[in-house]
Amino acid sequence: MLRIKSSALQKIVAQAERDYPYETCGLLLGKSEGSLRTVFGVYETPNANPDRKHDRYEIAPQDYLLAEKKARQFGLDIVGVYHSHPDHPDIPSQFDLERAFEGFSYIILSVSKGKVTSYRSWELQERRFVEEEVITFG
Ligand SMILES: [Zn+2]
Repeated sequence: MLRIKSSALQKIVAQAERDYPYETCGLLLGKSEGSLRTVFGVYETPNANPDRKHDRYEIAPQDYLLAEKKARQFGLDIVGVYHSHPDHPDIPSQFDLERAFEGFSYIILSVSKGKVTSYRSWELQERRFVEEEVITFG
């Protein structure tokens, strides 16, 4: 289950709409306790994919390290990744599956004509994505 601060979710939605028709991406900063992840903030990362930003995203290793540093300053960890699917459903692709880690939450936002129409969070269980419940707070 994912608990996310309302302000963090609002930031992700605004970022996904701003970056349409390209995929936006970033990291979720928070705390993990077993299968419960609580997100207090987000760290925007540029989409480092060189030529397929409309249907692929990539987070550069140096941005990951910067996000980790930022998280540590607040006593937090990286607990997941978010990205958008312009004109596609909020369901992970095969490409998403290949790069996913166990123990992370993956928020995917569906953006249609520049507006976020839905979002879902997924977690990896035995190399398969399973949808997880999302609760906002704060
Ligand atoms: Zn994707």
